[in-house]
Amino acid sequence: MKEIEEFLAKQSYPSFDLKAVFFDMDGVLFDSMPFHALAWTRTMQNNGFDFTEYDAYMNEGRTGEGTINEFFLRHRGRVATDEECKAMYAEKGRYFEACGPVKPVKYVLELLHKIQAQGLDIYIVTGSAQRSLLNTLHHHFGTIFEKEKMVTAFDVKYGKPNPEPYLMALQKAKIEPWQAVVIENAPLGIQAGVGAGIFTIGVNTGILEDKVLLDAGAHVVYPSMHELLTQWTTIYD
Ligand code: CA
Repeated sequence: MKEIEEFLAKQSYPSFDLKAVFFDMDGVLFDSMPFHALAWTRTMQNNGFDFTEYDAYMNEGRTGEGTINEFFLRHRGRVATDEECKAMYAEKGRYFEACGPVKPVKYVLELLHKIQAQGLDIYIVTGSAQRSLLNTLHHHFGTIFEKEKMVTAFDVKYGKPNPEPYLMALQKAKIEPWQAVVIENAPLGIQAGVGAGIFTIGVNTGILEDKVLLDAGAHVVYPSMHELLTQWTTIYD
């Protein structure tokens, strides 16, 4: 694939030697972004912040603390106290839970099975601390995901858009950046993958324009999960 060749040349990597695929969770595995957007919009507005659905998608990928502090800094010129942060994240979590059960993104299960059959390792790298989602992985995805092959909000200090979570995933998998690909749906997640020096695939499952994902640095963007599934063999066969 032309995009991979260009990426290898630009990074001066020796070869593309795929061993593992790093999946983001919200908006890639779970069709949960409409719920998150609604929960964040209500919580932020309740707390006096100007916040829209578009803001939710633009800030997707940050940890809860990261999102709260981003808006505190922007509007109040300081970070949130621990108490404010805990209270707001709990409120957001309650709105999210009240939305009901979340379903997997259409065609992602087929993609996971294809990747598993190719003998590649599968990791989840998420800024989420939403236990209801983390606990439901087994129910929706069977034995595809293993506890030791996950990086969540509980593991990181900075979280996305910092490359930290993807660097941690490389470490856990004991592989080099040219031995992985990242699958992300949001600009900040894409920045994290690119920052870690990994070939980063944008899959547009939300309300943002494809251009926003390309501008964030995605090496290739697919307009839907179905399109990524169809084109997967051009990435790895
Ligand atoms: Ca996401």
